[in-house]
Amino acid sequence: MELTAHEVWSRVLERAESAVTEQSFRTWLEGTGAVGVSDGELVVEGPSQFHIEWVEDKFGGLLRELVAAVVGRPIRVTFRAAQSAPSLSFPELDLNAPQSDPVLGVSTAIPDRRRSNLNERYTFDRYVVGGNNELAAAACRAVAEQPARMYNPLFLYGGVGLGKTHLMHAVGNRILDRDPHVRVAYVSSEQFTNALVTAIQEGQTADFRRRYRNMDVLLVDDIHFLEGKERTQEEFFHTFNALHDAQHQLVITSDRPPKDMPGIEERLVSRFEWGLVADIKPPDYETRMAILRKKAEYDRLTLDDDVIDFIARSCTASVRELEGAVIKLLAYSSLTHRDVDVALARTALQGMLRPPESTHRLTPKRIQNAVAREWGVSPEALTSKRRTRELTVPRQVAMYLIRDLLDEPLVRVGNLFNRDHSTVIHSVRKVESGLEADARLRHRVEHVRSLLTDGS
Ligand code: ADP
Ligand code: MG
Repeated sequence: MELTAHEVWSRVLERAESAVTEQSFRTWLEGTGAVGVSDGELVVEGPSQFHIEWVEDKFGGLLRELVAAVVGRPIRVTFRAAQSAPSLSFPELDLNAPQSDPVLGVSTAIPDRRRSNLNERYTFDRYVVGGNNELAAAACRAVAEQPARMYNPLFLYGGVGLGKTHLMHAVGNRILDRDPHVRVAYVSSEQFTNALVTAIQEGQTADFRRRYRNMDVLLVDDIHFLEGKERTQEEFFHTFNALHDAQHQLVITSDRPPKDMPGIEERLVSRFEWGLVADIKPPDYETRMAILRKKAEYDRLTLDDDVIDFIARSCTASVRELEGAVIKLLAYSSLTHRDVDVALARTALQGMLRPPESTHRLTPKRIQNAVAREWGVSPEALTSKRRTRELTVPRQVAMYLIRDLLDEPLVRVGNLFNRDHSTVIHSVRKVESGLEADARLRHRVEHVRSLLTDGS
């Protein structure tokens, strides 16, 4: 009997449904799917790394047995997060040519995966628009409706877990919904780099170029990854030009605005600014509530308003953090067989979250940590004696923000950094004049300030 991976997995899930509690099934197993077979193993995906690790850990044994029962013999099962799939930037399999896997005897074709390598869950429908991402979302919609007409490239930037990747996939999904023949590819900058390295090693650079330059729409995620990688930047520069000249759409994301990427060549930076640059900020309280409600709706979770409110007040940093809190809460509930309510949320999320009361409590340590993170240095380095330029600026900024936000006495601030108060005065002045003269510095300092003070 020849079963597709998809069919194998449906049967496995049918059987699993009666073997685990309903809550566990809905929370953990329902969201998984088998995407295909590679090298004789069945590849099973879940919506996130955390999710799939949990599935493997708790249900791996059961699922492998069920797979063996369905297929008729034991075979390898690999679990992975949906985002990393397929790890190649483009499907390498010829989807139109079904083959039989020698080990499995099941079809290796992946019939339900027509849309290049986009995550189908990342759509505009599932994306909540708030004041924090309004411009970015509107620009993405415009690009999805009329690729390469309005903003090319579209450059989105913002911190981790704020929805850049989601929006970018939404553009691709929308374009394919309208016309499945448009060639849309999503590639992370890391994949682009790896693919280039491999192409060079194997003398396949011409092929590499053709693949990328043939796209109608190229979505390039996390471009900051290319910082300092000159050869890859060179290659990307030519890809960019080829696509742009041919009036094909590029959408690019980064954790910072183009101007703020010192390791990226000037000619690329200036191209990034040719179209529209839009930022995404952390969501405010109302938007966090709306995101949680939408998540509950789509994932069919029963979460009362007071629980949603509790999570929205407790998790302020990013959407990923919000989602992580929901997963953790559900896991806790299914393991302890307790109903989901605020009391359970408080226990389950302890340690993961700042308690709501203290959201506003800003401490010097939090400021140091936030500045260190923004500049990519360790918090310890800020208080060390080292005087390299990499450390001087963030150290001065941290002193400035501690003075500005907490009004701490100069001597106390000095102590925090193992410096005397005259150094603090000098640092604060230095930052103040820097803020006037240097837009890039101003932007970064304001970014950190908004992260620290957005407590709503
Ligand atoms: P980034 O690429 O900026 O790090 P992602 O796009 O991976 O962030 O988003 C992290 C998670 O949060 C994803 O699961 C995504 O679906 C969800 N998410 C982010 N922003 C929103 C939003 N505005 N509405 C709904 N879900 C969102
Ligand atoms: Mg991302």
